[in-house]
Amino acid sequence: MPELPEVQKYKQYIDETSLHQPIKEATIKNEKILENINKADIENHLRTNTITQTTRFGKYLFLSLKTDSWLVLHFGMTGNLKYFSNINEQPAHTRLLLSFVNNHYLAFDCQRLFGLVTVTSNINEYIKNKKLGPDALTIKKKEFMDNLSNRTGKIKTILLNQHIISGIGNIYADEILFQSRIHPETQINNLSKDHIQSVFSHISFVLQTAIEHDADISNYPQTFLLPHRRNDNLCPLNKNHKLSTVKISGRTTYYCPYHQLKP
Ligand SMILES: [Zn+2]
Repeated sequence: MPELPEVQKYKQYIDETSLHQPIKEATIKNEKILENINKADIENHLRTNTITQTTRFGKYLFLSLKTDSWLVLHFGMTGNLKYFSNINEQPAHTRLLLSFVNNHYLAFDCQRLFGLVTVTSNINEYIKNKKLGPDALTIKKKEFMDNLSNRTGKIKTILLNQHIISGIGNIYADEILFQSRIHPETQINNLSKDHIQSVFSHISFVLQTAIEHDADISNYPQTFLLPHRRNDNLCPLNKNHKLSTVKISGRTTYYCPYHQLKP
């Protein structure tokens, strides 16, 4: 499931392939992907338009259009992008297809349809309407501490809550808590200030490291949990530690029961 580092990679992908390319035609292939806009309106809006720049916020990607509006993409569980020249290479679950004047295409592929596509005239208002918390890569320490004070619940559930902090999903929450050596079921009010500061600093450490490795888990540092998740299931720091799993907020959570002690 695309989280902040994957969406950052998609941003870079669009920057490298699709910027400043005049759009000849836009086709919505499944209307279930649309949010608050109908097929004809969005197709008309995109036709003859041009993507001029891109911005990411949390797990959302905003593509600035020359008409002073923004195409919004959210990748849901299975969203992906593909730029190609031969129409036969079109992905099987293309939901939005942009055809450029240069005879190339950009497909937004989303098999499970949990993603979304829309157009907005104002990013800040869009983010406000979605009640999204600050972006996980740029949130300030004070903001993070303030957002967590007076909260209750498990630390992992808090990290997944996009209204508190935007961009962290299931797998990066596990990595952040492993790097912080905190058990994912720890109640937030049982964490010391030092623990919360450790979570804060590991959020940017983990996300930044992931971005530097192009969100390619197989290339992550040896000390990261993610390459071992669903793989050998062993702690990266000690091969005698078998990883444990627990369901939190319905999501399978991996942790090392020796390095992340129950509170
Ligand atoms: Zn361990």
